[in-house]
Amino acid sequence: MSRPTPGPFHAARNGPQPGPRAGAARPADIRCAVCGTSSRQSRFRPMPPEGAPDLDLRPGEPLRSTMASWLQQCPHCGYVAPEIAHAHPAAIEAVGTAPFRALIADSTHPPLSRRFLAYAYVLEETGALHAAAEATLQAAWAADDARKPDLARAWRGDAVALWRAGPPLDAEQTVRVVDALRRAEAFDDAANTAGQLAASHPPEAVAGVIALEQRLIALEDSGRHTVASALPPPSRRPHASHGSIARRGVAPGLWERLRRLWRRS
Ligand SMILES: [Zn+2]
Repeated sequence: MSRPTPGPFHAARNGPQPGPRAGAARPADIRCAVCGTSSRQSRFRPMPPEGAPDLDLRPGEPLRSTMASWLQQCPHCGYVAPEIAHAHPAAIEAVGTAPFRALIADSTHPPLSRRFLAYAYVLEETGALHAAAEATLQAAWAADDARKPDLARAWRGDAVALWRAGPPLDAEQTVRVVDALRRAEAFDDAANTAGQLAASHPPEAVAGVIALEQRLIALEDSGRHTVASALPPPSRRPHASHGSIARRGVAPGLWERLRRLWRRS
């Protein structure tokens, strides 16, 4: 069902993950893996965000405002990826198709959204549906920033369709589906999906976020909210090792992600 995931897809899940070598890398001549053309490109090295992430795990500032640097694009063929020096065989085919050419040329869409949608198309063609969902959600974030709410709603809906078309989602990812549905104003679907997740006795962190989502859905609030509204700041939590978190039944994946995403000085 799911083919091997090509490329550096850690960057496609909630955007780039902060690494030890944060900051701007010096541009270098990179040879496009699709058409062979060389161009000056920078490899993005994310910095740790200090602000709380949104409920869909869009990172807080300062990482939030760096989306224009997350993807490289070949100026010749339009291929888009975190690193265009690498390409899945199916990606090479995808770049030559009419839908891809139309996506990168569509001037009715914000330029940054276009780049994420083009990347999403490539990912979908390689069978990486969840990664394609992430890139489509990122196109919606860029549309939020460009003040294009209709496009942002449509792309959140597309992201949900891609998530649901892929392998089964864990509780943490299902929360993000609920958030995308709420922000797309698909309140009935959001309420049903949230209700099913709440009834499945999810881990504590997930339960806290889903309770907030349910309150927002009942108010038909489609606005942006952060996990700070759903969870107390990490500094107020007693120190807990991996082991004690696991014993308490809290998903370490989400906790670890939130700790990385939201560092308070
Ligand atoms: Zn190229």
